[in-house]
Amino acid sequence: MSNSSSEVITCKAIVCWGKGEPLKIEEIQVEAPKSSEVRVKMLCASVCHTDILSTRGFPSPLFPRVMGHEGVGVVESIGEQVNGLKQGDIVIPTYVAECQTCENCTSEKTNLCLTYPLTFNCLMLDGTSRMSIRGQSLYHTFSFATWSEYMVINENYVVKIHPSIAPSHASFLSCGYSTGFGAAWKDAKVEEGSSVAVFGLGTVGLGVVEGARIRGATKIIGIDKNPRKKEKGHVYGMTDFINLDGSDKYSICESVRALTDGKGVDYSFECSGVAPLVNEAIESTKIGTGKTILMGTGDHQSLQINFLPLLCGRTLKGCVYGGIKTKSDLPILLEKCRNKEIHLDELLTHEVQLEDINKAFELLKQPDCVKVLVKI
Ligand SMILES: [Zn+2]
Ligand SMILES: [Zn+2]
Repeated sequence: MSNSSSEVITCKAIVCWGKGEPLKIEEIQVEAPKSSEVRVKMLCASVCHTDILSTRGFPSPLFPRVMGHEGVGVVESIGEQVNGLKQGDIVIPTYVAECQTCENCTSEKTNLCLTYPLTFNCLMLDGTSRMSIRGQSLYHTFSFATWSEYMVINENYVVKIHPSIAPSHASFLSCGYSTGFGAAWKDAKVEEGSSVAVFGLGTVGLGVVEGARIRGATKIIGIDKNPRKKEKGHVYGMTDFINLDGSDKYSICESVRALTDGKGVDYSFECSGVAPLVNEAIESTKIGTGKTILMGTGDHQSLQINFLPLLCGRTLKGCVYGGIKTKSDLPILLEKCRNKEIHLDELLTHEVQLEDINKAFELLKQPDCVKVLVKI
Protein backbone atom coordinates (compact mmCIF):
# COMPACT_ATOMS: atom_id res chain seq x y z
CA MET A 1 0.00 0.00 0.00
CA SER A 2 1.39 3.41 -0.92
CA ASN A 3 1.51 6.22 1.61
CA SER A 4 -0.97 8.39 -0.21
CA SER A 5 -3.96 6.90 -1.92
CA SER A 6 -6.11 8.50 -4.59
CA GLU A 7 -8.70 5.75 -4.51
CA VAL A 8 -12.24 6.29 -3.33
CA ILE A 9 -13.22 3.80 -0.62
CA THR A 10 -16.72 2.36 -0.42
CA CYS A 11 -17.62 1.48 3.15
CA LYS A 12 -20.39 1.38 5.74
CA ALA A 13 -21.45 4.45 7.69
CA ILE A 14 -24.35 5.70 9.80
CA VAL A 15 -26.39 8.35 8.00
CA CYS A 16 -29.13 10.61 9.37
CA TRP A 17 -31.31 11.67 6.43
CA GLY A 18 -33.31 14.39 8.16
CA LYS A 19 -34.18 16.07 11.44
CA GLY A 20 -35.28 13.49 14.01
CA GLU A 21 -35.20 10.58 11.58
CA PRO A 22 -33.93 7.17 12.70
CA LEU A 23 -30.37 6.42 11.69
CA LYS A 24 -29.57 4.14 8.78
CA ILE A 25 -26.53 2.09 7.97
CA GLU A 26 -25.58 2.88 4.39
CA GLU A 27 -22.85 2.16 1.90
CA ILE A 28 -21.06 5.46 1.30
CA GLN A 29 -18.04 6.67 -0.66
CA VAL A 30 -15.10 8.24 1.16
CA GLU A 31 -12.75 10.27 -1.03
CA ALA A 32 -8.98 10.32 -0.75
CA PRO A 33 -7.50 12.92 1.62
CA LYS A 34 -6.57 16.26 0.07
CA SER A 35 -3.47 18.39 0.90
CA SER A 36 -3.39 18.60 4.74
CA GLU A 37 -5.93 15.83 5.34
CA VAL A 38 -5.62 12.23 6.43
CA ARG A 39 -7.97 9.32 5.79
CA VAL A 40 -8.57 7.26 8.92
CA LYS A 41 -9.78 3.67 9.24
CA MET A 42 -11.92 3.77 12.38
CA LEU A 43 -11.17 1.17 15.07
CA CYS A 44 -14.13 2.05 17.28
CA ALA A 45 -16.32 4.98 18.19
CA SER A 46 -18.56 5.97 21.07
CA VAL A 47 -21.82 7.73 21.72
CA CYS A 48 -21.93 11.19 23.30
CA HIS A 49 -25.15 12.85 24.46
CA THR A 50 -24.57 15.51 21.79
CA ASP A 51 -25.12 12.83 19.13
CA ILE A 52 -28.83 12.73 20.03
CA LEU A 53 -28.92 16.48 19.49
CA SER A 54 -27.07 16.06 16.20
CA THR A 55 -29.94 13.96 14.86
CA ARG A 56 -32.14 16.99 15.60
CA GLY A 57 -29.79 19.36 13.79
CA PHE A 58 -27.03 20.31 16.26
CA PRO A 59 -24.80 22.25 15.66
CA SER A 60 -26.44 23.06 12.31
CA PRO A 61 -29.57 21.56 10.70
CA LEU A 62 -27.67 20.10 7.74
CA PHE A 63 -28.75 16.74 6.27
CA PRO A 64 -28.10 14.11 5.13
CA ARG A 65 -25.17 13.79 7.46
CA VAL A 66 -22.81 11.07 8.62
CA MET A 67 -23.04 10.83 12.41
CA GLY A 68 -20.62 10.56 15.31
CA HIS A 69 -17.79 12.67 16.67
CA GLU A 70 -16.05 10.43 19.20
CA GLY A 71 -13.72 7.67 18.12
CA VAL A 72 -10.25 6.37 17.44
CA GLY A 73 -8.68 5.09 14.24
CA VAL A 74 -5.55 4.32 12.29
CA VAL A 75 -4.23 6.59 9.54
CA GLU A 76 -4.83 4.77 6.24
CA SER A 77 -3.48 7.39 3.81
CA ILE A 78 -2.26 10.98 3.90
CA GLY A 79 -2.54 14.07 1.70
CA GLU A 80 0.49 15.56 -0.07
CA GLN A 81 1.02 18.40 2.42
CA VAL A 82 0.76 16.28 5.57
CA ASN A 83 3.98 16.26 7.55
CA GLY A 84 3.09 15.43 11.14
CA LEU A 85 1.47 12.05 10.57
CA LYS A 86 2.14 8.84 8.71
CA GLN A 87 0.26 5.77 7.66
CA GLY A 88 -0.35 3.46 10.64
CA ASP A 89 -0.44 6.20 13.30
CA ILE A 90 -3.24 5.78 15.85
CA VAL A 91 -5.22 9.00 16.17
CA ILE A 92 -8.24 10.52 17.87
CA PRO A 93 -10.28 13.28 16.25
CA THR A 94 -10.83 16.54 18.13
CA TYR A 95 -13.22 19.24 16.92
CA VAL A 96 -10.90 21.89 18.32
CA ALA A 97 -7.32 22.38 17.13
CA GLU A 98 -4.22 24.27 18.25
CA CYS A 99 -1.95 26.11 15.79
CA GLN A 100 0.22 27.30 18.71
CA THR A 101 0.85 30.70 17.10
CA CYS A 102 -2.44 32.65 16.89
CA GLU A 103 -3.60 35.19 19.48
CA ASN A 104 -5.82 32.64 21.23
CA CYS A 105 -3.32 29.75 21.13
CA THR A 106 -0.63 31.91 22.74
CA SER A 107 -3.10 33.02 25.43
CA GLU A 108 -3.64 31.02 28.62
CA LYS A 109 -7.28 32.10 28.60
CA THR A 110 -8.76 29.93 25.86
CA ASN A 111 -8.31 26.80 23.77
CA LEU A 112 -10.27 28.10 20.79
CA CYS A 113 -7.74 28.47 17.98
CA LEU A 114 -8.39 31.18 15.41
CA THR A 115 -6.38 29.54 12.62
CA TYR A 116 -8.17 26.17 12.87
CA PRO A 117 -11.55 27.06 14.33
CA LEU A 118 -14.36 24.93 15.66
CA THR A 119 -16.63 24.83 12.62
CA PHE A 120 -20.39 24.46 12.38
CA ASN A 121 -20.83 24.08 8.61
CA CYS A 122 -20.31 20.28 8.87
CA LEU A 123 -17.79 20.34 6.00
CA MET A 124 -14.01 20.22 5.57
CA LEU A 125 -12.09 23.50 6.02
CA ASP A 126 -12.30 24.13 2.25
CA GLY A 127 -16.11 24.00 2.41
CA THR A 128 -16.50 20.63 0.70
CA SER A 129 -17.31 17.11 1.88
CA ARG A 130 -15.26 13.93 1.51
CA MET A 131 -18.28 11.68 1.98
CA SER A 132 -21.06 10.93 -0.48
CA ILE A 133 -23.81 8.43 -1.16
CA ARG A 134 -24.90 7.43 -4.67
CA GLY A 135 -23.39 10.69 -5.96
CA GLN A 136 -25.06 12.89 -3.33
CA SER A 137 -22.77 14.81 -1.00
CA LEU A 138 -23.05 14.07 2.73
CA TYR A 139 -22.45 16.49 5.58
CA HIS A 140 -20.18 15.49 8.48
CA THR A 141 -21.09 15.87 12.17
CA PHE A 142 -18.46 18.58 12.70
CA SER A 143 -15.63 18.84 10.17
CA PHE A 144 -15.49 15.02 10.30
CA ALA A 145 -17.74 12.09 11.24
CA THR A 146 -16.72 8.97 13.16
CA TRP A 147 -19.58 6.47 12.78
CA SER A 148 -18.10 5.23 9.56
CA GLU A 149 -15.55 2.59 8.64
CA TYR A 150 -13.42 5.35 7.09
CA MET A 151 -13.37 9.14 7.39
CA VAL A 152 -11.24 12.05 6.20
CA ILE A 153 -10.09 14.74 8.63
CA ASN A 154 -7.68 17.68 8.54
CA GLU A 155 -4.39 16.68 10.21
CA ASN A 156 -4.64 19.63 12.60
CA TYR A 157 -7.80 18.15 14.12
CA VAL A 158 -6.31 14.81 15.12
CA VAL A 159 -3.99 13.89 17.97
CA LYS A 160 -1.65 10.95 17.68
CA ILE A 161 -1.89 8.61 20.65
CA HIS A 162 0.32 5.87 22.06
CA PRO A 163 -0.73 2.46 20.67
CA SER A 164 -0.84 1.02 24.20
CA ILE A 165 -3.93 3.10 25.05
CA ALA A 166 -7.07 0.94 24.87
CA PRO A 167 -9.30 1.96 21.93
CA SER A 168 -12.30 2.47 24.24
CA HIS A 169 -10.30 4.82 26.48
CA ALA A 170 -8.99 6.74 23.47
CA SER A 171 -12.50 7.14 22.12
CA PHE A 172 -13.84 8.46 25.44
CA LEU A 173 -10.98 10.99 25.58
CA SER A 174 -11.91 12.41 22.17
CA CYS A 175 -14.86 14.32 23.63
CA GLY A 176 -17.01 13.70 26.72
CA TYR A 177 -14.62 12.72 29.48
CA SER A 178 -11.94 15.23 28.43
CA THR A 179 -14.54 18.00 28.31
CA GLY A 180 -15.43 17.40 31.95
CA PHE A 181 -11.92 16.76 33.21
CA GLY A 182 -10.61 19.78 31.34
CA ALA A 183 -13.33 22.06 32.68
CA ALA A 184 -12.11 21.48 36.24
CA TRP A 185 -8.42 21.40 35.28
CA LYS A 186 -7.93 23.96 32.51
CA ASP A 187 -11.02 26.14 32.41
CA ALA A 188 -11.95 26.66 36.07
CA LYS A 189 -8.44 25.80 37.30
CA VAL A 190 -9.99 24.44 40.51
CA GLU A 191 -7.67 25.12 43.47
CA GLU A 192 -6.70 22.81 46.32
CA GLY A 193 -9.23 22.84 49.13
CA SER A 194 -12.02 24.33 47.04
CA SER A 195 -15.63 23.21 46.80
CA VAL A 196 -17.39 22.10 43.64
CA ALA A 197 -20.93 21.19 42.54
CA VAL A 198 -21.47 19.08 39.43
CA PHE A 199 -24.90 19.12 37.76
CA GLY A 200 -25.41 15.87 35.82
CA LEU A 201 -23.23 12.79 36.38
CA GLY A 202 -22.90 11.49 32.85
CA THR A 203 -19.48 11.13 31.21
CA VAL A 204 -18.83 14.89 31.26
CA GLY A 205 -19.92 15.26 34.89
CA LEU A 206 -17.86 12.28 36.04
CA GLY A 207 -14.88 13.81 34.20
CA VAL A 208 -15.42 17.04 36.18
CA VAL A 209 -15.58 15.09 39.45
CA GLU A 210 -12.29 13.35 38.66
CA GLY A 211 -10.61 16.54 37.46
CA ALA A 212 -11.69 18.35 40.64
CA ARG A 213 -10.43 15.47 42.82
CA ILE A 214 -7.02 15.45 41.11
CA ARG A 215 -6.83 19.26 41.50
CA GLY A 216 -7.34 18.79 45.25
CA ALA A 217 -10.93 19.93 45.73
CA THR A 218 -12.15 18.76 49.15
CA LYS A 219 -15.89 19.08 48.66
CA ILE A 220 -17.27 17.60 45.43
CA ILE A 221 -21.07 17.53 45.32
CA GLY A 222 -22.69 15.49 42.55
CA ILE A 223 -26.27 16.22 41.51
CA ASP A 224 -28.35 13.82 39.41
CA LYS A 225 -31.92 12.56 39.15
CA ASN A 226 -30.69 8.99 38.79
CA PRO A 227 -29.94 7.51 42.27
CA ARG A 228 -27.59 4.93 40.73
CA LYS A 229 -25.15 7.73 39.93
CA LYS A 230 -24.31 7.97 43.64
CA GLU A 231 -22.15 4.89 43.61
CA LYS A 232 -20.55 5.86 40.28
CA GLY A 233 -19.78 9.37 41.49
CA HIS A 234 -17.96 8.08 44.57
CA VAL A 235 -15.62 6.05 42.35
CA TYR A 236 -14.49 9.32 40.71
CA GLY A 237 -14.07 11.25 43.96
CA MET A 238 -17.51 12.71 44.69
CA THR A 239 -17.91 13.48 48.41
CA ASP A 240 -21.66 14.26 48.56
CA PHE A 241 -24.67 13.39 46.44
CA ILE A 242 -27.93 15.25 45.88
CA ASN A 243 -30.58 13.07 44.28
CA LEU A 244 -33.15 15.02 42.28
CA ASP A 245 -36.01 12.62 42.86
CA GLY A 246 -38.62 15.37 42.74
CA SER A 247 -39.59 14.92 46.40
CA ASP A 248 -37.09 17.43 47.81
CA LYS A 249 -38.72 20.30 49.59
CA TYR A 250 -35.59 22.37 49.13
CA SER A 251 -34.30 23.83 45.87
CA ILE A 252 -31.01 22.43 44.61
CA CYS A 253 -29.07 25.55 45.50
CA GLU A 254 -30.45 25.41 49.05
CA SER A 255 -29.31 21.79 49.30
CA VAL A 256 -25.83 22.76 48.03
CA ARG A 257 -25.62 25.59 50.57
CA ALA A 258 -26.68 23.22 53.36
CA LEU A 259 -23.63 21.09 52.48
CA THR A 260 -21.26 24.10 52.47
CA ASP A 261 -21.98 25.92 55.75
CA GLY A 262 -24.54 28.07 54.01
CA LYS A 263 -21.95 29.66 51.71
CA GLY A 264 -22.29 27.80 48.44
CA VAL A 265 -19.49 26.30 46.35
CA ASP A 266 -16.49 27.96 44.70
CA TYR A 267 -17.29 26.35 41.34
CA SER A 268 -20.36 24.81 39.78
CA PHE A 269 -20.40 22.90 36.50
CA GLU A 270 -23.59 22.55 34.46
CA CYS A 271 -23.24 19.32 32.46
CA SER A 272 -26.89 18.30 32.11
CA GLY A 273 -28.05 20.61 29.32
CA VAL A 274 -31.30 21.20 31.25
CA ALA A 275 -31.86 24.95 30.87
CA PRO A 276 -33.54 25.73 34.24
CA LEU A 277 -30.61 24.12 36.06
CA VAL A 278 -28.31 26.92 34.88
CA ASN A 279 -29.89 29.32 37.39
CA GLU A 280 -29.62 26.67 40.12
CA ALA A 281 -25.95 26.21 39.22
CA ILE A 282 -25.29 29.97 39.45
CA GLU A 283 -27.14 30.32 42.76
CA SER A 284 -25.26 27.32 44.19
CA THR A 285 -21.98 29.27 44.10
CA LYS A 286 -20.55 31.73 46.63
CA ILE A 287 -21.58 35.36 46.55
CA GLY A 288 -18.83 37.57 45.16
CA THR A 289 -16.51 34.89 43.82
CA GLY A 290 -18.54 31.90 42.58
CA LYS A 291 -17.92 30.65 39.05
CA THR A 292 -20.30 28.58 36.93
CA ILE A 293 -18.98 26.72 33.91
CA LEU A 294 -21.55 25.82 31.30
CA MET A 295 -20.95 22.68 29.23
CA GLY A 296 -24.28 20.93 28.80
CA THR A 297 -25.97 21.25 25.44
CA GLY A 298 -29.71 20.95 25.09
CA ASP A 299 -32.45 21.64 22.59
CA HIS A 300 -32.83 25.23 23.78
CA GLN A 301 -31.34 28.12 21.81
CA SER A 302 -31.60 30.56 24.70
CA LEU A 303 -32.43 30.66 28.37
CA GLN A 304 -33.49 33.15 31.01
CA ILE A 305 -30.87 34.08 33.60
CA ASN A 306 -31.92 35.39 37.01
CA PHE A 307 -30.47 38.88 37.27
CA LEU A 308 -29.78 39.34 40.98
CA PRO A 309 -27.65 36.24 41.72
CA LEU A 310 -25.35 37.06 38.79
CA LEU A 311 -25.18 40.72 39.75
CA CYS A 312 -23.79 39.65 43.13
CA GLY A 313 -20.29 39.09 41.79
CA ARG A 314 -20.76 35.64 40.31
CA THR A 315 -19.40 34.57 36.92
CA LEU A 316 -21.08 32.46 34.26
CA LYS A 317 -18.98 31.20 31.38
CA GLY A 318 -19.04 28.49 28.77
CA CYS A 319 -16.27 26.28 27.49
CA VAL A 320 -15.65 23.86 24.65
CA TYR A 321 -13.64 20.65 25.12
CA GLY A 322 -13.04 21.71 28.73
CA GLY A 323 -10.61 24.44 27.67
CA ILE A 324 -8.09 21.73 26.73
CA LYS A 325 -5.50 22.71 24.11
CA THR A 326 -5.03 19.68 21.91
CA LYS A 327 -1.24 19.93 21.53
CA SER A 328 -0.21 21.46 24.86
CA ASP A 329 -2.66 19.83 27.29
CA LEU A 330 -4.19 16.70 25.78
CA PRO A 331 -0.88 14.72 25.87
CA ILE A 332 -0.81 15.27 29.66
CA LEU A 333 -4.28 13.73 29.98
CA LEU A 334 -3.31 10.88 27.63
CA GLU A 335 -0.32 10.21 29.91
CA LYS A 336 -2.64 10.07 32.93
CA CYS A 337 -4.64 7.50 31.00
CA ARG A 338 -1.53 5.40 30.30
CA ASN A 339 -0.55 5.64 33.99
CA LYS A 340 -4.06 4.54 35.01
CA GLU A 341 -4.51 7.70 37.10
CA ILE A 342 -8.01 8.24 35.71
CA HIS A 343 -11.07 5.99 35.63
CA LEU A 344 -12.02 5.20 32.05
CA ASP A 345 -12.97 1.51 32.37
CA GLU A 346 -15.76 2.52 34.77
CA LEU A 347 -17.40 4.66 32.05
CA LEU A 348 -17.98 1.75 29.69
CA THR A 349 -21.36 0.14 30.35
CA HIS A 350 -22.61 -1.04 26.93
CA GLU A 351 -21.37 -2.02 23.47
CA VAL A 352 -23.15 -2.12 20.12
CA GLN A 353 -22.15 -2.96 16.56
CA LEU A 354 -22.18 -0.08 14.08
CA GLU A 355 -25.33 -1.40 12.39
CA ASP A 356 -27.17 -1.49 15.74
CA ILE A 357 -26.63 2.20 16.43
CA ASN A 358 -30.33 2.96 17.01
CA LYS A 359 -30.12 0.51 19.93
CA ALA A 360 -27.42 2.73 21.44
CA PHE A 361 -29.86 5.63 21.76
CA GLU A 362 -32.29 3.32 23.59
CA LEU A 363 -29.51 2.11 25.89
CA LEU A 364 -28.69 5.73 26.82
CA LYS A 365 -32.11 5.97 28.47
CA GLN A 366 -31.32 3.08 30.84
CA PRO A 367 -30.40 4.17 34.38
CA ASP A 368 -27.16 2.17 34.49
CA CYS A 369 -25.89 3.47 31.13
CA VAL A 370 -22.93 5.83 31.02
CA LYS A 371 -21.01 5.15 27.83
CA VAL A 372 -21.87 3.07 24.77
CA LEU A 373 -18.94 1.84 22.71
CA VAL A 374 -19.60 1.41 18.97
CA LYS A 375 -17.71 -1.50 17.44
CA ILE A 376 -16.71 -0.87 13.85
ZN1 LIG B 1 -19.34 14.94 22.45
ZN1 LIG C 1 -4.29 28.96 17.02
